[in-house]
Amino acid sequence: AAAVRGLTKRFGDRAVLSGLDLTIERGEFVALLGRSGSGKSTLLRVLAGLDAEIEGTARVPGTVSVAFQQPRLLPWRKVWRNVVLGLRRDGESQSRNRAVAERALAEVQLSGHADAWPLTLSGGEAQRVSLARALVREPDLLLLDEPFGALDALTRLAMHGLVEDLWRTHRPGVLLVTHDVDEALLLADRVLVLGEGRILAEHVLSHPRPRTAADHADVRTRVLA
Ligand code: ATP
Ligand code: MG
Repeated sequence: AAAVRGLTKRFGDRAVLSGLDLTIERGEFVALLGRSGSGKSTLLRVLAGLDAEIEGTARVPGTVSVAFQQPRLLPWRKVWRNVVLGLRRDGESQSRNRAVAERALAEVQLSGHADAWPLTLSGGEAQRVSLARALVREPDLLLLDEPFGALDALTRLAMHGLVEDLWRTHRPGVLLVTHDVDEALLLADRVLVLGEGRILAEHVLSHPRPRTAADHADVRTRVLA
């Protein structure tokens, strides 16, 4: 499990995160809601090991992958090379990497795009390449920072199904940052609300899916409180 205890993150004098506690089990799908500026991305950066200047502890065993809101693909590398960016790249692993990339691209329904250039992709396609890149590292923890924010409603719907399928297949722990309450309710086992530098509210959703109307009403009440 990934475990955060008493996490305080300051920028200058200001504590953005303040004594935050959080545990994410392997295989668990957690959604993180919170107002703009509440510190969601900051928390993800700490979990990803991108920011070590903290008070408290953030223990994240195993491999962590992050998919950001902007796909951040390298435009001068073909799609498949972007997918395997995080993998070893010595000579003999090159053909193996290509196979790994093609498998991952098939999983995100982008077979045939391996040799495309990133700038020729649509927004949703680039987002899926970003997901494939996160997946090939076989993460124990997958951090998704509003990955569907920039997508149209239909593409977002397709992405929801895709992420759920990928999660069922690979079973990483997932922490999904989103502004969309319905998205959180649809995908997550547990919904957290970040505010005042810590987890203000937590709601565990009932099983099995699909969610009941009571779940939706309950989470809405808490989130909007
Ligand atoms: P959004 O929903 O808009 O993405 P967020 O919850 O992800 O917001 P963060 O990006 O984590 O918010 O930022 C939290 C606060 O910390 C903001 O007030 C931001 O200005 C501040 N902050 C983030 N990074 C830095 C930094 N490197 N230096 C100074 N302040 C920062
Ligand atoms: Mg953010």
